[in-house]
Amino acid sequence: MLFADRGEDADLGRRLACRSRLSVVTDVVEIAADGVRRRQPGAGFSLRDRAQLLLLARGVAEAKLPFVGKGERLETAALPAVSEQVQDLGSAASPASELALEEADLIVSAGNGVSNVPGFLALAEALGAAVGASRVAVDDGRFTRDKQVGATGKTVQASAYIALGISGAVQHLQGIKSCRHVIAVNLDAAAPMIKRADLSIIDDCQSFISAFEQLVRRERKEKQV
Ligand SMILES: Cc1cc2nc3c(=O)[nH]c(=O)nc-3n(C[C@H](O)[C@H](O)[C@H](O)COP(=O)(O)OP(=O)(O)OC[C@H]3O[C@@H](n4cnc5c(N)ncnc54)[C@H](O)[C@@H]3O)c2cc1C
Repeated sequence: MLFADRGEDADLGRRLACRSRLSVVTDVVEIAADGVRRRQPGAGFSLRDRAQLLLLARGVAEAKLPFVGKGERLETAALPAVSEQVQDLGSAASPASELALEEADLIVSAGNGVSNVPGFLALAEALGAAVGASRVAVDDGRFTRDKQVGATGKTVQASAYIALGISGAVQHLQGIKSCRHVIAVNLDAAAPMIKRADLSIIDDCQSFISAFEQLVRRERKEKQV
């Protein structure tokens, strides 16, 4: 059985698993023949035996990967109401620049090639992504030290890491080795970051940033998300 791992329905699967004593795996990102792969806080991804109930967050799984099972539907007993002792305080949106890098699922990161910092921050805001930076971009004052990714900065484990104008020095790559997908924008097709990336765009990152921000805002408006 698949249940939501995040959002307002997140406790439904957990309550069913407790009540029916089902084995459960949370933070699932892939379902494969050899088991399920889950995000392991602080340690990338781990492989677990398949359980009776899997909790997935929206959008984390690769739709193209095969899902195991016959799609059978089971009737479930009505669940008790959420305890009155639980008080829902609602959710509050926090600015992208304040998201913790170590916990972020989507990071947009700036290197020396990013000269338009306000435009870059506007893109991060539109994407709802956490902000990262290379040491050069931090050293010259464009970003605060807590944004530095790499050997002497933060180690990150995002599902997607968008590297804008970052060469991909070994010290920087060390901080992103657990990232699942890397997208690089760079003028230099021979940059090490381009070799590390799953998707590369050889272009000026200033024009990419403004075009991508407009696209994201337009898509969000049309889809009302
Ligand atoms: C002991 C030690 C520890 C270090 N720790 C870290 C660390 O934790 N994190 C870290 O990041 N670095 C670290 N460094 C520094 C590291 O070696 C690199 O110097 C640094 O990562 C380079 O940053 P950068 O790629 O942003 O800048 P650059 O090396 O200047 O590269 C800029 C890149 O942007 C591209 N570019 C330029 N203009 C544009 C444009 N308009 N559009 C698109 N692309 C463009 C260029 O082609 C180039 O690839 C460390 C170094 C040492 C010695």
